[in-house]
Amino acid sequence: NTFADIDLGDALNQNIRRCKYVKPTPVQRHAIPISLAGRDLMACAQTGSGKTAAFCFPIISGIMKMQDQSAQRPPRGARTVYPLALILSPTRELSMQIHEEAKKFSYQTGVKVVVAYGGAPIHQQIYASAFCCGKCAMRNSILSLLPAVLRELERGVDILVATPGRLVDLLERARVSLQMIKYLALDEADRMLDMGFEPQIRKIVEQMDMPRPGLRQTMLFSATFPKEIQRLASDFLATYIFLAV
Ligand code: AMP
Repeated sequence: NTFADIDLGDALNQNIRRCKYVKPTPVQRHAIPISLAGRDLMACAQTGSGKTAAFCFPIISGIMKMQDQSAQRPPRGARTVYPLALILSPTRELSMQIHEEAKKFSYQTGVKVVVAYGGAPIHQQIYASAFCCGKCAMRNSILSLLPAVLRELERGVDILVATPGRLVDLLERARVSLQMIKYLALDEADRMLDMGFEPQIRKIVEQMDMPRPGLRQTMLFSATFPKEIQRLASDFLATYIFLAV
């Protein structure tokens, strides 16, 4: 009944304590063991239910285990990066929020989280430090031309948090490949569909499944369950557990 009872790995359990989470919320209590058991999941979860941790904990825990097995991956610094987990969210604000939480949860685990959001031209997602001082104006003017997300990605990424539009852009630029994705989380899926992201989401999932169908484990979170979401679930999820708390 506490996080200490769930084996998420030492480093993650320590971060959970640091966040002062003691008891899992209802969605966490049910969703985390289902995901740790490797099952696909569709969960009914509102904002404030603790859903972010519900999908982040199994992902981080799973990636830590994959690191132990030193999974074969292309070297860091390559132009195209191969994240192991993808979290799709409808908006820039939600993506930033998930990124902040996921960074806290993955502190000192060796798991690297990067966020890529739309809503602004890619050239505007630049380093905040690009204009840090007058002395290095030359360097800064070059830096400012390089979108921060591309530089971030080049340093390596395990978990990519992204809005669907921006991710399609990165896929088309061949900056991101989804061939190694083991975990897919769709957050606020109903809102993503309301915003018209269904074609982008389908394109993204298609790319993921092309090389190795059946590799990924999927978690779909939504506040409501209209027909469109049920169709998405039956298209994207293997035999899944439905969770309504
Ligand atoms: P979310 O629904 O993921 O946006 O989470 C809502 C808020 O609850 C966030 O501020 C979380 O940091 C917090 N939270 C999530 N899970 C727990 C927990 N088990 N114990 C205490 N706070 C939590």
